[in-house]
Amino acid sequence: MILGCFAGFVIDADKLLLIASSFSFAILTLFILKKFRLSTKSKLSLIYGHLIFLFFPFAVLTTDAACGISCMPCANNLGNLVALALPTTFLISTVAGFFVIPGFYMLFNKKTEAENIHITRIIKNHSRRMKLNMPKVYIIDNANPTAFSFRSFKSMIFFSAGLIDLLNKKELESVILHELGHLKRKASILMMSVSLLRFFSPLSLLARFHHDSNGEEAYADKFAIKTQKTDRHLKSAKIKIDEFERHKKFLL
Ligand SMILES: [Zn+2]
Repeated sequence: MILGCFAGFVIDADKLLLIASSFSFAILTLFILKKFRLSTKSKLSLIYGHLIFLFFPFAVLTTDAACGISCMPCANNLGNLVALALPTTFLISTVAGFFVIPGFYMLFNKKTEAENIHITRIIKNHSRRMKLNMPKVYIIDNANPTAFSFRSFKSMIFFSAGLIDLLNKKELESVILHELGHLKRKASILMMSVSLLRFFSPLSLLARFHHDSNGEEAYADKFAIKTQKTDRHLKSAKIKIDEFERHKKFLL
């Protein structure tokens, strides 16, 4: 059946090369993800890259078909096709990322659902007070003290076993509040904003406990301090984490 000017897919050598290299990059990103120990940020970028390379050939082929059906000159013009297919690819990858990344991330980390009663109780109490859905809480089997959270279709908070060992209860609470502060802010942005562009980078999914003083971090810190009515615990938590990092570098 011929629709408009669409004469079926013409897979020439150029298109074949484009599709093959895109899939190779998709496989390469997966390989790097599995093979190397990477920061959460790099992992997210690689997963995003993987999705882009995976969806790109489909976007090219459907654009090709669409150009053919509407008798546009872009049909079978590789340069035009790529230029047209790129925005679609980024859009699909971004949307897919919001569903794939949290699950994907969990596959690459040994983790257990938190049975730590202290942590779950703190999170339950505070999220109820903040009118947040209770996030899922996971403990990652990692000695580095770290915590981060995701918010997409479901919110999740990850703590490393190292963090739980290192901090006392009040300090741990300050880190939990910091993460809940991120989740709360993301929730309000999600509700207020209809613009997908705001989320064009899947990195915006990730909120991580670190010491940068950019807007998101400052907000999360302020939230923790306000709730605890003191900055003492958050400060000493950060000092402990810094000391751990310095010590680690020293040992290496
Ligand atoms: Zn943070």
